[in-house]
Amino acid sequence: MTTITTKTAPLGRRIEVSGVVQGVGFRPFVWRLARHHGLTGKVRNVGGRVEIEVEGSARDLDRFRAALESEAPRRATVVAVTSRDTAPTGYSSFVIDRSETNHAGTALVAPDLATCAACLEELFDPDDRRHRYPFINCVDCGPRYTVIESLPYDRERTSMRAFPMCPACAREYDDPSDRRFHAEPTACPACGPQLQLLDSEGSAVCGDPLEGAAARLLAGDIVAIKALGGFHLACDATDEAAVHELRRRKRRPDKPFAVMVRDLEVAVTTFRLSNEESDLLQSWRAPIVLVGDRGYLAPSVAPGHQRQGAMLPATPLHHLLTRAVDRPLVMTSGNHSDEPICTDNDEALACLADAADSFLVHDRGVVARYDDSVTAVRRGGPVVLRRARGFAPEPIPLGATGPPVLSCGGHLQVSFCLAVDSRAFVSPHIGDLDNDMAVTAFREALERSTRLFDIAPSLVAHDRHPDFLTTRLAETLGVPTVAVQHHHAHVAAVMAEHQLDGRVLGVAFDGFGLGEDGASWGGEFLAVDARDAVRVGHLRPVAQPGGDAAVREPNRMAFAHAVDASRLTEARALFSDTLTDRDMDSLAAQSRSPRVAPPTTSAGRLFDAVAALLGLGRTPSYEGQPAILLEQAADATARGAYPVPLDTHQGRLVIDTRALVAAVIDDRIAGRSVADISGRFHHSLAGAIVAVCDQLRERTGLDRVCLGGGVFANGLLLDEAAERLLARRFEVYWPQAVPPGDGGLALGQVHVARARSAVAEGHG
Ligand code: ZN
Ligand code: ZN
Ligand code: FE
Repeated sequence: MTTITTKTAPLGRRIEVSGVVQGVGFRPFVWRLARHHGLTGKVRNVGGRVEIEVEGSARDLDRFRAALESEAPRRATVVAVTSRDTAPTGYSSFVIDRSETNHAGTALVAPDLATCAACLEELFDPDDRRHRYPFINCVDCGPRYTVIESLPYDRERTSMRAFPMCPACAREYDDPSDRRFHAEPTACPACGPQLQLLDSEGSAVCGDPLEGAAARLLAGDIVAIKALGGFHLACDATDEAAVHELRRRKRRPDKPFAVMVRDLEVAVTTFRLSNEESDLLQSWRAPIVLVGDRGYLAPSVAPGHQRQGAMLPATPLHHLLTRAVDRPLVMTSGNHSDEPICTDNDEALACLADAADSFLVHDRGVVARYDDSVTAVRRGGPVVLRRARGFAPEPIPLGATGPPVLSCGGHLQVSFCLAVDSRAFVSPHIGDLDNDMAVTAFREALERSTRLFDIAPSLVAHDRHPDFLTTRLAETLGVPTVAVQHHHAHVAAVMAEHQLDGRVLGVAFDGFGLGEDGASWGGEFLAVDARDAVRVGHLRPVAQPGGDAAVREPNRMAFAHAVDASRLTEARALFSDTLTDRDMDSLAAQSRSPRVAPPTTSAGRLFDAVAALLGLGRTPSYEGQPAILLEQAADATARGAYPVPLDTHQGRLVIDTRALVAAVIDDRIAGRSVADISGRFHHSLAGAIVAVCDQLRERTGLDRVCLGGGVFANGLLLDEAAERLLARRFEVYWPQAVPPGDGGLALGQVHVARARSAVAEGHG
């Protein structure tokens, strides 16, 4: 290759790159790029950014600068590059410099990355020195969020600090041409973490721990496995007795278990997968994907459900184990229902003693809890239903910058969010904040995040509900607080994610949120901007007998809706096999008493009612079960829909659900199939959403619709509502990067809080 070069004095440039640039092989990439372009200088991590000093010709510097973005490692997210000329100091080569510590700045911590193809090859290569080593990783894969204690991202500030590198690993780490060059968690059998198999008493079991665990799984045992972000409970997913026993011990009667299979080949024979679902399974995020079942697994894996969670191994340990067992494995979080996932060996031995027969553990600490993420494929691509491993804390880019704001989320499926500059860091899923362990987990995660990101929020946003633990927590932080109405936050989360300015029509359908008028809301149409929300429509208020008790007993809502729709006699007939006359008398009476049955506009409770009327989910064991069963029972191709008239009350549009509920009951009495009725119910509700949006567009001129709230985790409703709105030439948005339910609330809260603070300061 010949190049014509003009001899000119070298120029100097200082370049700063921000984004997800630590823990993704960025410095080695810069090193190779600088060498390739014949530049000298140095690169280092400073705070959360990468700082580069380079010297060379103008042309080479420009090419280098362009390639920084265009050729960046696939897992890096370059958010901003700044560059300024400097006086050259005469570097003789290009080097990777030690990291600067204690530098203020916003750091971006990468999520944990699923094992890459190159590491996988070594893992199963008998000649490789890491053959069958369960902690193999490289700059392209491995733990990040779960090992990082503080920033900048260097081994000494991770839980790998406890494992000094052996000479062979150190050579790779220092060799710029090696793919483990500066791979901070790198390790090998000689120097890294080791597995151990413990019996239920905590005593070590002799022999190869992995083979031992595999043998026990094959024998029907339940094994607790220490993963990256905490413990899993595993058993053979084809062994009905084992799965049934796991349900009994975990006190989880019928919520589907996630199942891990060794590779895609087995996945396609175990599950019904679309191409998009296969892609999602195989992505480096390696989430749980909700997919169709083929009836090959033990019935207790997902009793009564048509869809369940599938996943592929995300770590070398899981690759080794699934191959050794060579059967699908139930892989469920190592906790008792509703408690946070266990992370520590001793903690797990104590709290999982009654659940696990043995424990496959290792000696690397889990710095942060990290549940598996749950996703599904919808119209227009994947959506996230639970956001943790592989996603968090990857920032969500916001449309504008603003003051540092913390938000605390709601009450169920809590996550918090830190907004800094133009990015929102939504914490990994923490869980339902209704026990002390969850509150502790919340505090720990929050403390760690504010430290990692080096943020002192100037404002704390919380739900308007005064009794949510997150509201009380927000008030103890000693920072000004902002209360955000629940459904406003749901819609604002969609606006934030899709960077929508101005006003939109929001459709917020969920189970419960405290309304501006102090009532229970959950089927809301709002005219929303980032600061304010005006209620412009809602579902017809219906009695909620027993308040919260109605969530646990959907029969209550079935009777309330039946009474409202003048179908009490018919409803009694539908329940005659499961409820006594006295029970039914009582439910009917409660439905008519505002004292014990405050009205709610909740769409979630409407789903409960219809599901219960059809005999589905009458005794739910987990949140949202009746609605999930109703969706799964639906024949999406069912023809016809029920009448859903619109009404007006105090200037707001009201969806009158009486004719809808009456028709559901009449169809059922007439013997129409549950699949047909459920299909028609979904069509009807989607149709009602479109009809309301049509009228609201006439009134307000707004033609952008944001769909949010936990009810839109329902793929059938989401897809049909979105499709029909798009056909009516609305612009339609829904949550994709954060959960539609309360797991996405925190993102909406920071969005609203920032907009309000801008007004307060006179910038708005
Ligand atoms: Zn790798
Ligand atoms: Zn080593
Ligand atoms: Fe909600």
